[in-house]
Amino acid sequence: MREEEFIENFEKQVKKTIEDFELISKGDKILVACSGGKDSTTALYLLKKFNYRVEALFIDLLLGEYSKKNYENIKKFCSENEIKLHSVSIRDEFGYKVCYVHSILKSKGYRIKNCTICGVMKRNIMNRKARELKFNKLATGHNLDDEAQTIFMNFLQGNLMLCAKLGPKTGQIMDDKFIPRIKPLYFSMERDITRYSEIKKFPVIYEKCPCAIDTFRLEVKNYLNEIEKEYPKVKEDIVRNFIKILPKIKEYYKSDEKLKYCEICGEPSRKDICKICFILNLLKNEK
Ligand code: AMP
Ligand code: ZN
Repeated sequence: MREEEFIENFEKQVKKTIEDFELISKGDKILVACSGGKDSTTALYLLKKFNYRVEALFIDLLLGEYSKKNYENIKKFCSENEIKLHSVSIRDEFGYKVCYVHSILKSKGYRIKNCTICGVMKRNIMNRKARELKFNKLATGHNLDDEAQTIFMNFLQGNLMLCAKLGPKTGQIMDDKFIPRIKPLYFSMERDITRYSEIKKFPVIYEKCPCAIDTFRLEVKNYLNEIEKEYPKVKEDIVRNFIKILPKIKEYYKSDEKLKYCEICGEPSRKDICKICFILNLLKNEK
């Protein structure tokens, strides 16, 4: 496909996703969670291009050169595109780096993956920062490949309950402390995002996170890429058919969706103690 045609189609698809799923309302103030990678940079670029009110949030995960490079890149991108950038460090927020948390939990017999711990920490920071900075929407760079993998992984693990949290908008529970999350690149294929960000010459590195050793996700990713060669629309089919039944899944698991507040930190939580406080408590006992 010619470059101009590709760009036009790509942008149209993102716009259509935003409109079809009513991701954004007039007057919304959107904080885009930016890792410095191609997906979230593309999401930020397009939301700005479509004239929405956006600012960016970078969470420094303190992963050496990888984090430094990503921070430099998002700083450059935001300054070139006149977007305000907020940045926070995981150590300032929690006092620990992900790898440290992982190693202590492992020594205590908890088999929680690095990516899971990192995800819990990032989600907590994103929600809290968006709220403190008075944004009413939080956007991420999740793409079609991410979503197809997650649906398939949940299915393979028999964990359909976790699917209730998926979809192009999540966290729609009406609660002042919970900022709704949106995924404008929900129907964008990873390879198209790569092509788009290369054409646009975004300052991004295309390396994977050095800590990401989620072998199960990687195997599912490789598997889907393999069957895609025979069935080119397999990822889109998984996601499109999934969202048709998503309202029923959400309805079914509604009672489990009830939001409480963590007894320790007061953040929204599904249990009496939130995941972060649970982890931090384990670490405290370590000292
Ligand atoms: P991941 O959890 O790495 O799959 O990333 C999912 C989404 O979370 C990305 O598309 C970003 O929107 C956001 N994100 C990931 N890492 C960071 C980070 N270090 N700072 C801010 N947002 C992030
Ligand atoms: Zn808590």
